[in-house]
Amino acid sequence: MSLPRINQQHLLYSIILGVIGLLLNFYPIQFFANVQFVLGNTMTVIAAVLLGPWYAFLTAMMASTGLMLIWDSPHVYLIFGLEALFLGYARRRDIYALYADAAYWLLLGAPLVYLYVVFLMDIPPSHLGFIISKQGINGLIYTSIASLLILAIPKLWFLKDKVKDRHRRQLSAQLTYFFTLLVTLTLLFSALIFNYYSLERQQVMLKQNMTEAVAHISASTQSYIENHKTVIQNTANQLTLIADKPEKWQAILSSFHESYPSFISMLIADPDAKIVNASPVSRLIAIDKKAQDININDRDYFIESFYNRRLFVSSAFLGRGFGNDAIVAMSTPFYLDEQHTQVAGIIEGSLDLSYFSHIDQVSEYSNDESVVMVDEKNQIIFASKKLSLKPLSQFNFVINKGGYHANLELINIHKMTSIVPEYIYTHRELNNGWTVYILKEFSPLLKLAEEQMFASFIMLLVSLVCTFYISTKLSALLTVPLEAVANQFSLPDSGKVSTIDDNSPREVFSLYQRLVASKEQLVAHQMELEQTVANRTAELEKANKKLTELVDRDPLTGLYNRRYAERKFSELLEFCLRSEQTITVAILDLDLFKTINDNYGHLAGDECLRKVSQLLQKYFKRDIDIVARYGGEEFLLILPLSNTLHIEHHLNGFREALSQLEITSPEDNQAFKVMVSIGAITANADYEADLDKWIKIADENLYQAKQQGRNRTIIDIITD
Ligand code: GH3
Ligand code: MG
Ligand code: MG
Repeated sequence: MSLPRINQQHLLYSIILGVIGLLLNFYPIQFFANVQFVLGNTMTVIAAVLLGPWYAFLTAMMASTGLMLIWDSPHVYLIFGLEALFLGYARRRDIYALYADAAYWLLLGAPLVYLYVVFLMDIPPSHLGFIISKQGINGLIYTSIASLLILAIPKLWFLKDKVKDRHRRQLSAQLTYFFTLLVTLTLLFSALIFNYYSLERQQVMLKQNMTEAVAHISASTQSYIENHKTVIQNTANQLTLIADKPEKWQAILSSFHESYPSFISMLIADPDAKIVNASPVSRLIAIDKKAQDININDRDYFIESFYNRRLFVSSAFLGRGFGNDAIVAMSTPFYLDEQHTQVAGIIEGSLDLSYFSHIDQVSEYSNDESVVMVDEKNQIIFASKKLSLKPLSQFNFVINKGGYHANLELINIHKMTSIVPEYIYTHRELNNGWTVYILKEFSPLLKLAEEQMFASFIMLLVSLVCTFYISTKLSALLTVPLEAVANQFSLPDSGKVSTIDDNSPREVFSLYQRLVASKEQLVAHQMELEQTVANRTAELEKANKKLTELVDRDPLTGLYNRRYAERKFSELLEFCLRSEQTITVAILDLDLFKTINDNYGHLAGDECLRKVSQLLQKYFKRDIDIVARYGGEEFLLILPLSNTLHIEHHLNGFREALSQLEITSPEDNQAFKVMVSIGAITANADYEADLDKWIKIADENLYQAKQQGRNRTIIDIITD
């Protein structure tokens, strides 16, 4: 295979397109999530349509470099390079770019993107449909733009040797294509813009919801803690009143605990850090048989409340022996006197933090929200079950700033390294140092975008079917009447008047009318022409006949000339041969003609020749006889079917008649006479085929006649 020669102009063109493509691709249009619209490939499509596959491939390589720079994924070279070749070769088969591109994405592009995403990228399979369809839609968009550009500004593509259609296209196919382009572009654009704003709105609403949710949860958490702090304080105040009656402490403790069951347990410790009362009482025994011996002087809540004399709220911790729930301890001292001079003991309540597990369940906000609450040490106090985070473990997360574009804050808590965000989040710090996070899965949002894109795609398909139907009908409006018009002129006139459809456009109808009028004119003109031609032909034939006459006749006498006689001789000979007849050939020479010219003038000589001729025609008047002027004053007679007995007599008859004929000179009206000598031969037709032989004998006889004194006939009659 020989390499095709490189067209310098095409090369330059494809490079320019490539540079523009590179720049356009370097600034993709950000849509939603990881969807970016790439418009640089428009240039590749233009190159494919105008320059063919390999120049387009070059353009694609350059345009893809723009993408490589921002995406850092070499697969663009493969996918878009193949696309360029596919479009270029399809173009050579007269397949429209948009159809070719749709076919490319279905047959090659989508499977390639699929393989690339599955094997080389860390993207969950649920995103596949979205990623693949977005590429296809992107392809359709830039192909439509390119096709419309080529259509709209043909001057721009004024190129020598650009790729051309091999076959003329049908109007319906052209209409369908251009409608398809328009529909595809407008529909996709409007759908995408609509989707974009709807997603934006969705995100704003989400953000608002989550902000509200986090505010709500923060507020209720704070009030929960504040309420229970108040409860602890109130209990302490009550205990202060009866500090001197320790036997009543238990009753107060139990009564408060009964009213505030959110405390898993409550206890009272004396200044020696010994537990003296507990609620429920059973706990005191159940925990440890020697519970009263438990010394709590190492506990923060004892130290803080006893020594620092303040209402203390601990960090979250796992309650020992109270199940696996996280708790906080709240403690405060109570006093022997109301002046708070001497501490009588401390009261402690272990607040159940599993209360928060209800917060997200009773939350009026959407059920796919999760809540994480961490204390000031970033330990998880509570996390919604579906997050499967362990209470009191550290809350680890990575803020996702990857390739996914959204107006929301995104984090990953399970797959920290994935570029795909897991959750949308918002958070708020409470005034006790805790932080509330509201998480919402990101995938439903992506799914929404995906569904919208899918719906747009279906809409596009439906519109294309309608487009196809409408453009077929539209083109029929033009082609059907045009065909009717054409039939007017191609079919032989059958006398039938073919009319035109009422629905046909006015332009076509007026064309039809004008053509009908021209046709009538044409027919009239044709008939006129035919008449003229017939007339001319008749005239011509007449002239022709005259001409042949002239050619065969002697102008002076009107007799046949020598050439005619020679030509006719063979015909006559044939005729006589068949019927075994005789032929007479005679040469006549006027006697002393020179003297007539000399005596009466040349005009008299001519007149004499005419008179002789007239007499000859009178004497030899059978149709079959040939009377010709043989030379100056010599005549040739060819007389078929001559009677051997009478021929000599007949010749002499003529000779004598001539000698009697009085001729008048036209100049001076002088009368004179002329005589003739005749040499002849009569023989059967088979005697000799050559006229010259006959003439030779006739000539010899003529010579003899002259010799013997002129005005006589000498004839050889040859009979077998
Ligand atoms: P002979 O009896 O021996 O035939 O004598 P002749 O004078 O007829 O013979 P010759 O051959 O000497 O002369 C023929 C003359 O015929 C010569 C020429 O001037 C004349 N002649 C030939 N053609 C024409 C013609 O068309 N018109 C006129 N007026 N004269 C002609
Ligand atoms: Mg002569
Ligand atoms: Mg003569």
